[in-house]
Amino acid sequence: MNEPKTIIVSAPSGCGKGTILHSVFEGKDMFYSVSCTTRAPREGEVNGTDYHFISTRKFRSMIKDDLFLEHACFSGNYYGTPKEPVDSSLAEGKDVILEIETQGAFQVKEKRPETPMIFILPPSVAELRRRLKKRGTEDDATIEKRMANAASEIANSVKYDYVMMNDDLDAALADFVTIYNAIKNGDGSADRFSPKNENTVKMINEVLENA
Ligand code: 5GP
Repeated sequence: MNEPKTIIVSAPSGCGKGTILHSVFEGKDMFYSVSCTTRAPREGEVNGTDYHFISTRKFRSMIKDDLFLEHACFSGNYYGTPKEPVDSSLAEGKDVILEIETQGAFQVKEKRPETPMIFILPPSVAELRRRLKKRGTEDDATIEKRMANAASEIANSVKYDYVMMNDDLDAALADFVTIYNAIKNGDGSADRFSPKNENTVKMINEVLENA
């Protein structure tokens, strides 16, 4: 029951997954994986904390040396999870959180099928665009690229173990904790979030229809 778990959390940018993860896990003895990326830092992002910001050349040499648990090209940039810190944290008995997009998530699931995957939906694709514009960290062309990615990512959420929505933050926090506890306890107390549940599938389709 208490064995350490790697947990994948995916959500389109602007879904508030960072806020949820920080609220739930801040101060807890777990490992929040820091990815490598070739994208430029946004204002306020700290190298080594938010990401390891590295060159494309360095990223490619890390792929060649098999240093990534998974990696993907997303919205024109590379992103990857360094393997060693994940495995040493698990060996120390810590849970590991991977905040990654869907292509990388499926690579991890393929290699380590026991890894639970959680997908966080926005209330609608239109709301996601509004939130991204409000955040103001991307130009319009980048936002449109992200919106196109968001729709295909949301369609992929049916392959996840758990799918929840961040409409109201307090409700989303409670749902996330329910899912996390079910994962830790290995029980079915969060089965209503499974895409095998018809209400969950309905919710996913409604988000896509409201694009
Ligand atoms: P952003 O550029 O907004 O920080 O991240 C873009 C997307 O890349 C997000 O969906 C984020 O979860 C995902 N991402 C961040 N790190 C990784 C990683 O190491 N691997 C993969 N596959 N995706 C990542």
